[in-house]
Amino acid sequence: MARRRQLYEGKAKILFEGPEPGTLVQYFKDDATAGNGAKKGIITGKGVLNNRISEHLMLRLHDIGIPTHFIRRLNMREQLIREVEIIPLEVVVRNVAAGSLAKRLGIPEGTRLPRTIIEYYYKNDSLNDPMVSEEHITAFDWACAHDLDDIVALTMRTNDFLTGLFVGIGITLVDFKLEFGRLWEGDEMRIVLADEISPDNCRLWDAKTSEKLDKDRFRRDLGRVEEAYQEVAWRLGILPEATNSDMKGPEVMQ
Ligand code: 5GP
Repeated sequence: MARRRQLYEGKAKILFEGPEPGTLVQYFKDDATAGNGAKKGIITGKGVLNNRISEHLMLRLHDIGIPTHFIRRLNMREQLIREVEIIPLEVVVRNVAAGSLAKRLGIPEGTRLPRTIIEYYYKNDSLNDPMVSEEHITAFDWACAHDLDDIVALTMRTNDFLTGLFVGIGITLVDFKLEFGRLWEGDEMRIVLADEISPDNCRLWDAKTSEKLDKDRFRRDLGRVEEAYQEVAWRLGILPEATNSDMKGPEVMQ
């Protein structure tokens, strides 16, 4: 791999300058955090699995006409993506009550919601990603009303598609978090799906047993975290060719 200039390091990923203008390389780490960094750990092989799982899901979404930042996977831990202007929002979609919604509203985890609910959080670690409304988003110009229309439409289509995809492999898509970016092509701007879609930012429960197959196993110290991510990859039919010894992958270059 050619030496690349690092542009940004997040909790689970690193962004490097891409080989061509307008591209970036997204590197998936094994690092796991919860509670906005309060809890830290390593999930061995997570980066490799999330790279594959996110590639698979982004490609399937592309197939149904949802624009994404994904170009192609480069290797075990890296993918080539389009450089986008990230909209500073976490868009959370919920089908079943869990996590912060269950806690905030006192609804038992596992209760099917009367309809899909979309929530917005302002992406700001120092403020702990506070929940915001459309009013805040448009007033502070994080996105305009038209951007939000696009975001909601893309989010609902993504939810419908992924819900069906996961039903087909015996998994309930409880909730997940999306991020979007602005992709400029000349004077034209399109909102596209960015970041990743993986068990790090989705709640995935076995449809029969409700066993958690996602990052809640780490957040809640449930054990068998790696195995849960592997199970999702297996069911999607994309477990990497790697043996366990490959899972550590290359060291990150600074
Ligand atoms: P909750 O608000 O219940 O904690 O999370 C709702 C859903 O969004 C979960 O699937 C969770 O994984 C995802 N999510 C919310 N915030 C974050 C975040 O900051 N990072 C990641 N990786 N996922 C998040």
